[in-house]
Amino acid sequence: MYDLLIKGGRVIDPAQNIDDKLDIAINGDKIAAVAKDIPPTESKKIIDASGKIVTPGLIDLHCHVFDSIHKISVEPDIAGVRQGVTTVGDGGSAGEATFAAFPKYVIPPAKTRVFCFIHLCSFGLIPEPELRDWDEVKLEAIAETIESHRSLIKGVKLRLVGNLVAREGIKVVEVLQKIAKKFGLPIMVHIGDMDRQVPPSLTQEFLPLMEPGDILSHIYTGNPGNPLRPDGTVLPEMRAAMERGVIMDTAIGRNNLNFEVAKKSLAQGILPTTLSTDLTHRSLTGPTYSLPVTMAKFMALGLDLKQVIQMTTINPARALKEDGRIGSLKPGMEADISILELSSGKWKLEDALRQTVEATQMLTPSLTIKAGEPISPQPVAQPEPMS
Ligand SMILES: [Zn+2]
Repeated sequence: MYDLLIKGGRVIDPAQNIDDKLDIAINGDKIAAVAKDIPPTESKKIIDASGKIVTPGLIDLHCHVFDSIHKISVEPDIAGVRQGVTTVGDGGSAGEATFAAFPKYVIPPAKTRVFCFIHLCSFGLIPEPELRDWDEVKLEAIAETIESHRSLIKGVKLRLVGNLVAREGIKVVEVLQKIAKKFGLPIMVHIGDMDRQVPPSLTQEFLPLMEPGDILSHIYTGNPGNPLRPDGTVLPEMRAAMERGVIMDTAIGRNNLNFEVAKKSLAQGILPTTLSTDLTHRSLTGPTYSLPVTMAKFMALGLDLKQVIQMTTINPARALKEDGRIGSLKPGMEADISILELSSGKWKLEDALRQTVEATQMLTPSLTIKAGEPISPQPVAQPEPMS
């Protein structure tokens, strides 16, 4: 007897190359079976998913959920289960001086699974721009923090902004890489400097340092330091990074998606590995809204449904090195499942410059299942359809 049976949905699990009308059986907090026509009599509880899309629990690799400590962060569940997302990665809101608040105060009340990228700067993103000088980098303290939270910390973050990076350039990236490597962790590096302090040429200079599994954030930013040359062609270092297995992450946020850059990059074959929101209170009520809206935005830019699901399930699970547990619906995996509604209509979706693309399809969370527990999504805001 199963605990829960999700019946009749269109199951899309790119990790297993599945796109079919299937049922999913759950026992406790694990997937028990994925098969055609599992009899309802074999389960204590049934969820009817007919007409819906059923995917592995969505994963938002980069958002900001250091709630109440980092002022613009949202609660993990606002970026997570309330949006159809079962796992979130915090993109460096906390540094070693503030990190302890994550496991003590932020994560315990959340239903969403949370992983963190620890910032190279002691105070994380407080204040912005961070990293005014070397005294904000305390390598021993970072090492101690990583050591104490090995299962929670998935990488070390740096933004190519601020005084220290402007002055020292690539040296700061080298320090970042050294501390991350000590623990076998990837680096997560933000490109694009709105304050124009950092020479834009630093992007081209540091990209060759990125190794397979490292994460490049804001691949379609329009800000100075973006990966397009003045003639609109993509930096060769960008393509080389993608080809050797650097994780190309969108992290769109309020300021880091430019449709022109995205269109030109996509046309030249620069595809995202992962779609992430970089969600904060600044982008929660638009232009970003949520991970499902971000998926719809990239469908409007030309990606297909299976691609956007792969970029929000197995790909981010691999980036987090958690693909043995989440990101797919194989029996034995965590019972993290997103049930989504795919609707047709017309939506105008915006980028950082308030340029628009017209979407003809929208993804809306219908039910979130986290570790076997059904949770009703309640998005804070949704883009309005055009009449
Ligand atoms: Zn961020």
